[in-house]
Amino acid sequence: MFNGLDIDRKAKILVVDDIPVNVQLLETHLISAGYNTMVANNGEEALEKVKQDEPDLILLDVMMPKMDGFETCKKLKNSQKTRHIPVIMVTALNEIADKIKGIESGADEFITKPFNKMELLARVKSLLRIKFLYDELQDKVKQLEQAKERLRELAVTDGLTQLHNYRYFKEYITRELRRAQRHKNDVSLIMLDIDFFKHYNDTHGHLAGDQVLRTIASLMKKNIRDIDFAARYGGEEFTIVLSQTDKPGAGIVAEKIRKLVEEHPFEFQEKQPNGNLTISMGVATFPRDGKTTDELIHSADRRLYQAKAQGRNNVINED
Ligand code: GH3
Ligand code: MG
Ligand code: MG
Repeated sequence: MFNGLDIDRKAKILVVDDIPVNVQLLETHLISAGYNTMVANNGEEALEKVKQDEPDLILLDVMMPKMDGFETCKKLKNSQKTRHIPVIMVTALNEIADKIKGIESGADEFITKPFNKMELLARVKSLLRIKFLYDELQDKVKQLEQAKERLRELAVTDGLTQLHNYRYFKEYITRELRRAQRHKNDVSLIMLDIDFFKHYNDTHGHLAGDQVLRTIASLMKKNIRDIDFAARYGGEEFTIVLSQTDKPGAGIVAEKIRKLVEEHPFEFQEKQPNGNLTISMGVATFPRDGKTTDELIHSADRRLYQAKAQGRNNVINED
């Protein structure tokens, strides 16, 4: 290991040349130095091979029929997928014009035939070091992207129920109301609270209570459309945002969820004050019941407390 870099990894080198004896010579040197080799006999074949099995470095002959080394190099360096692979051009002539053309086509190094073995291997080694550093950097970038994505998810997710959290709910509904205003759509908001949940916790413990929260979250999630949005609003309160849904439509969804919870066999539910584990719900619809997020939440909340006052285990969507 060198600076955390795996230089011991066996590099794979593609040798591109139309003359078999040249290929053989290069391969012999590379294999004796411990590298793996791949061979292509012309430019097109080289591009094809690189696509199938990416090498760590390419030794590219300049003079080849049809597609010469310059053109092949240009194609490799113009593609996002292959531009990072170092290319050493192997030229017969020690001509300045050829080198300039080679640099313009994107070559990283040159070797002039007849080449010196030690020089060849030294150039290969130095370019491989850069290539491996690049690979390592790419790995780190990928890890960073994944960590960022996970962090983004965590920031909007409630840890206990895996529903969206309060903060994201506020963001989402505000955006949704703006959209509904533009398109003149209805949006409905359901606020949901578990009945006598303090009793449940006090009697059976918080872990049992947490399990109820998770089960209710999952019942909610499974019974709304993909375009709807469910969040944990706070402790034992949940909310659902129903896009393009009017008051009667939202009433139907709320009633369906109320019934599912009523019928779900929660552990110890028979010990609840009303003999069952149930929820109460308040529904408010934009724009009728409120034009802003806060107005809508207040309206749904008020109805939720009416639902509690009227005996719990019910849905109220009108004042
Ligand atoms: P009501 O029918 O009027 O809603 O009665 P309630 O007992 O459900 O209402 P209250 O607001 O008095 O109690 C809410 C309880 O919710 C208090 C607390 O024990 C419980 N709770 C809040 N957050 C959590 C949580 O994250 N986990 C668990 N297990 N319980 C929670
Ligand atoms: Mg409550
Ligand atoms: Mg409650």
